[in-house]
Amino acid sequence: MRMVDGFGDVRKIWMNGKLIDWHEAKVHVLSHGLHYGSGVFEGIRCYSTPRGSFVFRLTDHLRRMFRSAIPYRIKIPYSLDELRTAVIETIKANGLSSCYIRPIVFYGYHSLGVDPGECPVECVIATWPWGAYLGEDALVNGIRCTFSSWIKIHPKMLPVGAKATGQYINSMLAGFDAKEKGFDEAILLDNEGYVAEGPGENIFIVDDGVIHTPSLASALPGITRDSVIKIAKDLGYEVVVRNITKGEVLIADEVFFTGTAAEVTPIREIDGIMIGDGKRGPVTEEIQHKFFRVVNAEENAYMDWLEPVE
Ligand SMILES: *Cc1c(COP(=O)(O)O)cnc(C)c1O
Repeated sequence: MRMVDGFGDVRKIWMNGKLIDWHEAKVHVLSHGLHYGSGVFEGIRCYSTPRGSFVFRLTDHLRRMFRSAIPYRIKIPYSLDELRTAVIETIKANGLSSCYIRPIVFYGYHSLGVDPGECPVECVIATWPWGAYLGEDALVNGIRCTFSSWIKIHPKMLPVGAKATGQYINSMLAGFDAKEKGFDEAILLDNEGYVAEGPGENIFIVDDGVIHTPSLASALPGITRDSVIKIAKDLGYEVVVRNITKGEVLIADEVFFTGTAAEVTPIREIDGIMIGDGKRGPVTEEIQHKFFRVVNAEENAYMDWLEPVE
């Protein structure tokens, strides 16, 4: 999906403190971040609800971006409050009631030693309309996945908890693997053969009514993952965080992905093996239903997670 499709003429991007025209939001081709993937970013959603527009866990997302920046020594030149205000300003400037939000911070143009040295830190926030990442049908009927031949980045190689731009070439390769084999999405294993996560989604399995998800040893600390754990516990489910093998995933009653983009997406098949009944399972459906009620401002107990646009 081109991010400009169906999105009017008055598009604005927030760049280094100012709202500028969409087409003016440019960087030099010798920017450090382009050459070495030295940036950190977020993916956030704003939902239009009967009670107004709300950004889901905006503060938590921005807090994670500040954390992602630490190992890469990226000094974000704005405070969390300033970025929160900037996100809201950008949504309003684009007249969007629901959208995807992409803040990104990266080393810009100055020198091209691998050490970023004097490279300035560029800070950008873009917003655009975006529906279901894997399609509306995926949310209802589930998707078909494959275990990728590419493993997840080892935690001794990179800080896997950081949402850093360069780390996504690993996700991209896994995605190619899946698409070329005719699947919707990949599942990556870690170096020891345990299940890590999807290219941009955390994974959960349901076994005998108990929910299990891998630890953060080789998975990103997803905000949707965290939300789903809380929602599941509030619904009375036991949630176990542990190492999960490939075999356990294949014989689970239900498997699903979580993520800002994927929201809560059931997985109905993996490598030709039907998961459970081969459709969205009852536990997945219950959690998904609750999740959508939460983001749609229909659950008072979770209103803390919704930050108003107005
Ligand atoms: C962004 C991302 C997720 C999901 O995180 P959310 O905060 O739920 O959007 C999971 N895994 C990877 C690798 C990601 O990049």
